[in-house]
Amino acid sequence: MTKSETSQKTKSTNHKVKNISVVKFGGTSVKNIGRIQHVAEIIAERSKIGPVLVVVSAMGDTTDYLVKLASHCSNHPEPRELDQLLSVGEQISITLVTMTLHAMGVKARSLTAHQIGIFTETVHSKARIVDIEIDRLVKAIEANNIVVVAGFQGVTQDGDITTLGRGGSDTTAVALAAACGASVCDIYTDVDGIYNADPNVISGARLLPRVSYAEVVEMARLGAQVIHPRAVELARNYNVKLRVRNTFKPDHEGTVIDGGEDMEIVRTVSGVAIDKDQARVAILDIPDQPGVAGKIMQALADKHIVIDMIMQAFHPTSGLSSITFTVHQSDVKDTIATLSELKDKLGASEVLSDPDIAKVSIIGAGLAGQPGIAAIVFSTLGEAGINMKMISTSEMKLTVVVAKGDAEKAAKLIHKAFELDT
Ligand code: ASP
Ligand code: MG
Repeated sequence: MTKSETSQKTKSTNHKVKNISVVKFGGTSVKNIGRIQHVAEIIAERSKIGPVLVVVSAMGDTTDYLVKLASHCSNHPEPRELDQLLSVGEQISITLVTMTLHAMGVKARSLTAHQIGIFTETVHSKARIVDIEIDRLVKAIEANNIVVVAGFQGVTQDGDITTLGRGGSDTTAVALAAACGASVCDIYTDVDGIYNADPNVISGARLLPRVSYAEVVEMARLGAQVIHPRAVELARNYNVKLRVRNTFKPDHEGTVIDGGEDMEIVRTVSGVAIDKDQARVAILDIPDQPGVAGKIMQALADKHIVIDMIMQAFHPTSGLSSITFTVHQSDVKDTIATLSELKDKLGASEVLSDPDIAKVSIIGAGLAGQPGIAAIVFSTLGEAGINMKMISTSEMKLTVVVAKGDAEKAAKLIHKAFELDT
């Protein structure tokens, strides 16, 4: 979560909109005109109960397409121009949804982030929301309009368009729900809700009717891909209950994400996640002295490289040590370049990278202090002859790094070992 979003002070406090429903539709839900028609019907139906604020993503793969177009014009498009371009995707879908509602005889109005005043920091491609003006939004709602807002975009104090980072429409929806004082935000997508594993990989994956914010944040960070972790953290901070629902099965209950209060901890492990977009990097034979690790990490931090799963190993015979960690695959090149620059200064012998890895994790609010969890994971993998390259644990998760080719098998076996398929 971001500082500015957590401490976000909306000017909404005296303008809460009574009984408002906030609903968000992802790119697959508005992929083509047929689907937009379907979405408009859901919205029209909901508007019979009370005011509706809709947030939509760009149609299907539009954002990817726009990124590609930009790359044909320049190898390094200026971030300001790129955001200006990418924001167009959502602008297309809000107008089409609104026109469809009009054709159905429903009063509606589309609004961009600029028109509303969804203010962000002056950072392009991953801006954080700092303030939301809801006066215009409220006026449109009070005039009996369904308001259809463009997700993923914001505006700086100087009037430049920003974007919130890929998948950012979830964040827009939750921020608006918080600003309007809505207690619930519905995230409509193309699956039934949050599962305890990826149903495309593990046939025994089960839908979770209810899960806590903390568990979903961990699942999303560790590779599950239903909802953006930043949106979930924002929801937690503003106490907005989330409901993940299937656009194509509107009667299905989906998954409720909330604080998990009075949720009995009946399950120790709530999910298994796989992340194949990781790589392992190591710097070998560095002096075993205070300050060395700090220098390495600082150099990486200066390049905005996020690292994870740090492991230090000491070799008693040589008196030297080595540091191994994981990074996102997209950061491998920069990581190697940064470490190679340091190599001679530190007297390291080698910098190695291994892209053939995947993280397999179990997540659970009840993991802390439970004995035997690691034993189950390690023996399950051991019996299957799957080698673990790295291990890390924390309060809510246990992650092992295995060869990419072993990841799905490992996840399936672990899923079964914890009886998550029943
Ligand atoms: N259209 C943007 C993207 O594809 C934002 C979103 O879908 O949430 O990342
Ligand atoms: Mg999208």
